[in-house]
Amino acid sequence: MGQESREFLPAARRGRRASGSTIAFIVVHSMEWEGNRAAAQTGKWFQRAESLGSTHLGVDDVSTHRYLEDEVEARGCRPINPSALHIEQAGFAAWDRDRWLEHEATIVRCAHAVATWCLSYDIPPRWLLPHDLQVGGPRPRRQQGITSHANVAGAWGLSDHWDPGLGYPVDVLMAHVMGFIRRADVGRAGLEPATGGL
Ligand SMILES: [Zn+2]
Repeated sequence: MGQESREFLPAARRGRRASGSTIAFIVVHSMEWEGNRAAAQTGKWFQRAESLGSTHLGVDDVSTHRYLEDEVEARGCRPINPSALHIEQAGFAAWDRDRWLEHEATIVRCAHAVATWCLSYDIPPRWLLPHDLQVGGPRPRRQQGITSHANVAGAWGLSDHWDPGLGYPVDVLMAHVMGFIRRADVGRAGLEPATGGL
């Protein structure tokens, strides 16, 4: 994986999770930024007062940065923030599949974080489409699975975001997630984000 790079860059937009909320969802996003500094740049943007959003983690090809502790509610996408963990990936929603696959290292880093969260919070590693989200509802009691910002927008219509885009290789992400879970080598892969420090 090369030299590991990770930092804790606490985001400005941080909420208190309602007590008793189940962490039921993992939501993947794209930053609309690219390059090996994209995860750090996104963290620095989230630190600014004028930034309206936040996520827990961000990855690019060479780094995994933490922006919020898992216990904190991110402003990632309504209406599921109280029940969700969010991760940003370097890349653009407009990218096609081939372009995303040029950055499989980013997808592997994302998958590692997703697998770690699945194991930590007992979230099933299944991909949820808008219909699945509607069935479970935005504040389910049981853990539900993994989805995209686009699917959350599709389920509840509260946003026009469509990241990480139609070309994003969900199959590749999920294959890596399953690989990490099956080999149980989360924690040994050298891809951990920094722990929160607040
Ligand atoms: Zn998004």
